[in-house]
Amino acid sequence: MELKLNIPQNILNHSPIAEYDYAAPFDIYQEKYVDGFLIVDHQKIQTYHAGFLFCEWKIENFTSFNSKSTLNGGYIYGINQNKEEIVICSCGKKYFSRLANIALGLNIFLKEHFFPTSDENEPFCPKCGRVYPYGLNHCMYCRSKTENIKKLWGFTQGYRWLLLLQYLIMLFPIAIDAINPMIYEKLANQYLIPKNTYWKGFVVLILMIALVYFIKSIIKIIEGILNPYVSFNIAHNIRLQVYDKIQKLSLASANKKTTGSLISRVSRDTQQVQWFLSYGLPSVITPILTCIVVLLIMLFMDYQLALWIILPLPVIYFSRMLYKQILWPKWDKNWKQFSKANTTLHDLLNGIKVIKTYSKEEKEIQHFQKVNWQLKEYEYDAEKTWRTMNPIIWFVVGIGEVFLIFVLGKRLIHDPSQYGNMLKWMSYSGMLYSSTSSLSNSLGTFLEFRIHLEKINEILEEDTTTHNGKLSVEIEGNVEFKNTRFGYLSYNPVLKNLNVSIKKGEMIGIVGHSGSGKTTMVNLLMKLYSPDSGKIYIDGYDLEELNSFEYRKQLGVVIQETFLFSGTILENIRYGNTNATLEEVMEAAKAAKAHDFIIKKPFGYDTKLGNKGFGLSGGEKQRIAIARAILNQPKIFILDEATSSLDTLTEKEIQDALARIIKGKTTFVIAHRLATLKNADKLIVLDKGEMVEFGTHKELLAKKGYYYQLVNAQKMTYEKKN
Ligand code: ADP
Ligand code: MG
Repeated sequence: MELKLNIPQNILNHSPIAEYDYAAPFDIYQEKYVDGFLIVDHQKIQTYHAGFLFCEWKIENFTSFNSKSTLNGGYIYGINQNKEEIVICSCGKKYFSRLANIALGLNIFLKEHFFPTSDENEPFCPKCGRVYPYGLNHCMYCRSKTENIKKLWGFTQGYRWLLLLQYLIMLFPIAIDAINPMIYEKLANQYLIPKNTYWKGFVVLILMIALVYFIKSIIKIIEGILNPYVSFNIAHNIRLQVYDKIQKLSLASANKKTTGSLISRVSRDTQQVQWFLSYGLPSVITPILTCIVVLLIMLFMDYQLALWIILPLPVIYFSRMLYKQILWPKWDKNWKQFSKANTTLHDLLNGIKVIKTYSKEEKEIQHFQKVNWQLKEYEYDAEKTWRTMNPIIWFVVGIGEVFLIFVLGKRLIHDPSQYGNMLKWMSYSGMLYSSTSSLSNSLGTFLEFRIHLEKINEILEEDTTTHNGKLSVEIEGNVEFKNTRFGYLSYNPVLKNLNVSIKKGEMIGIVGHSGSGKTTMVNLLMKLYSPDSGKIYIDGYDLEELNSFEYRKQLGVVIQETFLFSGTILENIRYGNTNATLEEVMEAAKAAKAHDFIIKKPFGYDTKLGNKGFGLSGGEKQRIAIARAILNQPKIFILDEATSSLDTLTEKEIQDALARIIKGKTTFVIAHRLATLKNADKLIVLDKGEMVEFGTHKELLAKKGYYYQLVNAQKMTYEKKN
């Protein structure tokens, strides 16, 4: 995205600016539209309104910059020395992503004194200006409603007939309700007013009323069986799809979303869709159909009177528009806060050990309280608005009813035989108004439902196939990085122009200070991210063209933060190769020096591990992870600080065992203790994302360069320690 736009003529007329680094328009100031422009250079940030300088800040007065998105756009702000938040400019959706990127760039400038630029082309919606969410190539916000309904229809696969049947059944009670007032009219006209003593007919009418109730209950029971069956099955469908998709999200995309928000997609959002299908949608369809039926009956009976009754209905329609304007942003805020509270809770539970060891319980409680309080405020605000707006509609409806009583009452005074007629009209108009007001209630569910559906679709529609090639080949293990460049944020390259070629079977050590890009390099090799430019070749194949799934099956990866699933030790070792026999598992465990400690556990290989491998020491977990990698019979081994959490003795043992296993297989080893890499065929020395040296341990020592310094520095710290 271009962050340095041309400065508009109306500014240049007053202030000739030649040198600048960022320039972008904004359009909101204190909730009013303005013709604003932001200009940043090495010293200052300026905002212009309609061509005239409006505000100026010195960059050096700030400690950081950030952006915040709101439903209709967002704003960027800086934190000054006194920790105050200074809003720099606000804007609608159209300009927000550019301004947010400028805030990001300003942050980098504070640290590294250069303004990063990007030639990346982020696609954005031509209609609303929002940048498409990661992985999407259309704008969800500008999509029509019918498309949303189509999406929902897609989820109902397998249950469509039942769903239709369920809604058809709902029609019967409506028809029955519409008959009721006619029976009442007959009752009044024949028995209540003329004092008729013909009992038989009276009893028949009463029995008819009872029958109507009976039939209605039977239908409700059938609906009660059908409805949950259909809606829960559909929700189950959606949940599976979302879960499945989350598994397939590229790491880059999953990294952008918090675990809490992903969890609430699977749980809360699908639950809301289920709720909508079983309660929400019927609560919309029933009143609409009731209205139509009742209106038709009324028009047929006396169209003039009917027209008077219909008069207040448009008010309800317009209040609906008002609802949308006022309520939607509130609900959206509410949802975001809910997801934030979820994330906070998730972090608290995951980090409970750290929190306790640092005695931060109080602080964390306070933090959660704050998030929770904000959630309550938003919920309260949305609910309050929603509930205070309803009575206004009811009032209008009430006026209509008063009018009806007046007209009908006047007729009744002139002609007492109109009593039955009045009864009938009153119940029809009652039905009409109560359905319209319950309809306007339910419209809220529609809006809320659309938000939930969009959150689900945002995940489901993400295109995960673009970075997945089609080729599945059996690899040998030749690896070549060619002009590879990559950054987690494209503005901030972590690996710069990496060029290195590795032959199959070589053991390669990657060394460098922490943060120099070692893990990033193997992340690229694992195809967890794609290079921003340049290529990675495996046996001459472009890595992008290989099928990720087939390719990764041929890797054996052990990283420092091992993850073990809850399940038995056996299941954990077998994770990547579920067909392995027990003998093969033991073989791998022996090679990883894990067998001995496993058989000492009370249930041996069947010992159950708690959440995150609870019940094993760090070294034990690591050895299980190594066994898992060995069992996979990989062609390329990747060991990223795999043995760093082990004591020196165990590390030595495992290194020896590994040395046998990795023989003949391309292996990348990242190790903190450089001594463990002495035997590597080649060493890649990284510094700030660049390969500064490449060669054998001996060659590099003789060169007395960067590696030599690293080794010496480490030697000194070890000597000091011992
Ligand atoms: P090393 O493994 O050499 O210690 P890394 O490759 O992990 O270094 O990190 C290189 C740089 O990339 C660091 O500055 C780090 O802060 C940054 N980085 C690593 N992972 C991420 C990520 N997921 N998102 C953003 N930045 C990251
Ligand atoms: Mg690392």
